[in-house]
Amino acid sequence: MTRIYIALGANLSNPKETFKAALSLLENRAVSVKRVSGLWQSPSWPPGQGHPDYLNGAAEVEFDGSAKELLTILMDVEAVLGRERAERNAPRTLDLDILDFKGEIHKSGRLTLPHPRMLERGFVLFPLDQLNPEWTDPVSGLPILHFIARLEQDDVAAMKYVGTLI
Ligand code: ADP
Ligand code: MG
Repeated sequence: MTRIYIALGANLSNPKETFKAALSLLENRAVSVKRVSGLWQSPSWPPGQGHPDYLNGAAEVEFDGSAKELLTILMDVEAVLGRERAERNAPRTLDLDILDFKGEIHKSGRLTLPHPRMLERGFVLFPLDQLNPEWTDPVSGLPILHFIARLEQDDVAAMKYVGTLI
């Protein structure tokens, strides 16, 4: 296991095709995709905005550079695939996040590791659990099941498994 996990999210213009394209662009940029999770569909957050549902998945990757170098590549791939950086929580064609980079703990303006909001999000935890049910939070040491058990039941109920990522 590489212990480098990235999250993929999208809610515009054929997310599944976008994810496939993203994974192949990553391969072209020395990010080797080892395994991919399934895909979950969930209502866009915050609720009531009328935005399309999200599709989310995760991938385990191998990468020889640093976490910051990986983030630069992710942002480049987002840009190539047409993400417009509008306001926070706006619909997006592609969001790529680093969830965990070899257990590193880091906080700077550009990069926080592990990803700061991942532990409250079912659409991140479910795909990560598929990739590695033994995953533990590098900060607290607590296992992924601890965080899954704490999710809001309504949020979990609204998540739909929609098959494989590729
Ligand atoms: P979000 O992913 O939270 O919905 P954005 O994709 O717009 O929001 O990201 C906002 C900023 O988050 C990026 O410019 C990036 O520098 C920063 N960031 C901090 N930590 C991470 C991380 N672990 N993975 C991806 N982006 C991160
Ligand atoms: Mg992001």
